[in-house]
Amino acid sequence: MGRTRAFGPRMWQFDRMATGTKGYHGIHLDRRGFLRGLGVAAAGLSASRVALAGNSARRAISFVHTHTGEQLSAVYYEGGAYLVPALQRVNQLLRDFRTDTLYPIDPGVLDRLYLLQSAAGSDEAFQVICGYRSPATNEALRLASSGVAEHSLHMEGRAVDVRLPGIDSARLALLARDQQGGGVGYYRVSDFVHVDTGRVRIWGDPIAI
Ligand SMILES: [Zn+2]
Repeated sequence: MGRTRAFGPRMWQFDRMATGTKGYHGIHLDRRGFLRGLGVAAAGLSASRVALAGNSARRAISFVHTHTGEQLSAVYYEGGAYLVPALQRVNQLLRDFRTDTLYPIDPGVLDRLYLLQSAAGSDEAFQVICGYRSPATNEALRLASSGVAEHSLHMEGRAVDVRLPGIDSARLALLARDQQGGGVGYYRVSDFVHVDTGRVRIWGDPIAI
């Protein structure tokens, strides 16, 4: 778990310094900075890596964003490596749409979703409720709702809120929990599951299916 811990806020801080303070505002990412962040992300995949070992030579993911309507279907891992252009498209779709801010999404989140979809036996696109969340957006949401953490992993590009058409969100949460790959939050009324690459933990509404 030590390697997972290395993928934390301080590392992103370092990455942000390398790209300049405005590196993640707007849609332009510094290439060196992005790749550096990617390397850090790749080093923090221990939880998912166990489940992915020995298979999944080619991993694809599909999203449709519930707020922007944007869609994406991409192979993001192939030949033993994460594909940077695909990850950049993912970063674009999962940006903070409220402030139009990009941030590198931890590929480990994609791996969690990839495994989740496989476990659910679905080939539908994930519906995204929230991906990256800028500090300003997180604060605004936190003031408006009791369910938003002050230091949300959404702010580190390590969390996504999703639902999967045809799969009950409670079942999705159960499958995510069984992965033991990070945090899982189940939101029954809003009908989505929060998945992240942080500590293994579960919260939200009781999972009853
Ligand atoms: Zn969330």
